[in-house]
Amino acid sequence: MRVIFAASEIAPYAKTGGLADVAGSLPKALQRKGAEVLTVLPRYGTIPHHQRVLDRLEVPFAFETKSASVWSDDKHGFPVYFIDLPEYFVRPGIYGDSSGTEYRDNAERFGFFSRAVLELTRRIGFKPDIVHGNDWQTGLLPLYLHRNLGNDPYFAGTGSLFTIHNLAYQGLFDPSLLPRLGLGREVYDPVSGIEFHGAASSLKAGIIAATAVSTVSRRYALEIQTPEYGCRLDGLLRSRHHDLVGILNGVDYDDWDPRRDPFLARNYSPEDLSGKEACRQDLLRDFQLSGDAAWPIVGCISRLVDQKGFDLISEIAGRMMQLGLYFVVLGSGDRGLESFFQALRDAHPDRVGVYIGFNHELAHKIEAGADLFLMPSKYEPCGLNQMYSLRYGTVPIVRATGGLDDTVQDFDRSTLQGNGFKFFDYEANRLLEKIYEALLVYADRPLWEILMRNGMTADFSWDRSALEYLDVYARLRSAVTI
Ligand code: ADP
Repeated sequence: MRVIFAASEIAPYAKTGGLADVAGSLPKALQRKGAEVLTVLPRYGTIPHHQRVLDRLEVPFAFETKSASVWSDDKHGFPVYFIDLPEYFVRPGIYGDSSGTEYRDNAERFGFFSRAVLELTRRIGFKPDIVHGNDWQTGLLPLYLHRNLGNDPYFAGTGSLFTIHNLAYQGLFDPSLLPRLGLGREVYDPVSGIEFHGAASSLKAGIIAATAVSTVSRRYALEIQTPEYGCRLDGLLRSRHHDLVGILNGVDYDDWDPRRDPFLARNYSPEDLSGKEACRQDLLRDFQLSGDAAWPIVGCISRLVDQKGFDLISEIAGRMMQLGLYFVVLGSGDRGLESFFQALRDAHPDRVGVYIGFNHELAHKIEAGADLFLMPSKYEPCGLNQMYSLRYGTVPIVRATGGLDDTVQDFDRSTLQGNGFKFFDYEANRLLEKIYEALLVYADRPLWEILMRNGMTADFSWDRSALEYLDVYARLRSAVTI
């Protein structure tokens, strides 16, 4: 099974969120199961030139032939190819500048990347069985494959899978750009094409054109077929429900395991939890927090965006700070939310720690040092942080949506089953009730350790999910060759 896996973020090379973690670990897991996977990423300015593969990759695009160079690296256990065209990819950010403004030519940048991926496979003689695109940035990839190159014998028998990691980001662009992207006006159709309420949609392109569509949890696969979660694409997704599958993301325990995490003050495991106390103290020191050492630390690591339930957190923050606890937040994004957390810290400097920015090491230290992890998302396609938290014995408090619902079970004190705290209605008081409940269990140390261990011993590794992907690939291959 030969797979081309294309993404706009791959950890550790480029990351803004969970897509990078998935793209940096699923290909490894697929390889372990015997697939031959080639991952492709744009070479952003922050990524050094690795090994040169091609001086000139000629890509027909934007009324001309653009020439990119291609580099590769395999230092992280899987081969990655980088498409290098500085005019598109050497910029201060991946999707936009530091003020948070998206680049105006994003559809063109990632359209080029998608087109280049297909040209690359031909040039290096890697004839794929499956082309696997991820999110709107590679939404045009299946469209180019099946429409522009549909009669190309090189791609005869190549199927495509398009994975939705977040339906809300759609890569909309002005339809006047279509010719520049090498697409005819006929693709601009509301029913059979990529028209979306007066704009062209890269995400919709992936959904309509790919042989099959997947998303990153079972629950989210169902939710996106409803008006509430469907981002106005629920009708289209319902029409494709036979080709739509939900496969839960896995965790790369090489990177996220307190037994061997190099960033921790002390390692620990479900058999010996003592190191966690050292991690707690380390975190309190990092943020210069002081108070009662026995208070629980509530952690939160997130893109600061509306999706993650910050309106609920803001609503209860005052009441939460009347409880005996510390609160540590790592994130960046919405300027209003950044200021909100900074103000909360200024009001409670001994008990609230805030780091605005992206900090990989600190993310590990919070996962280990915190006792509770807040993730009250409005929607959550899969969510990785709650799975990392479970492994680190940091009990998640989540809202029952998407992957959070699939991975967190509400703790039951009588049966001792469950690995976290979960509420259903998107309401601030429901979140606060779960925090109260968590603090009650926290006060009973033996009970708390049972709850911690329930999470720490669960297995969310990629093994099972990688097999599910291979199964989908196999079905796609037979579907397109029959
Ligand atoms: P999403 O993909 O919606 O951002 P996930 O929970 O799936 O949410 O994945 C988020 C990933 O990004 C996790 O690996 C998390 O640790 C990381 N992350 C988010 N914000 C930050 C930050 N400010 N600093 C470091 N890591 C972050």
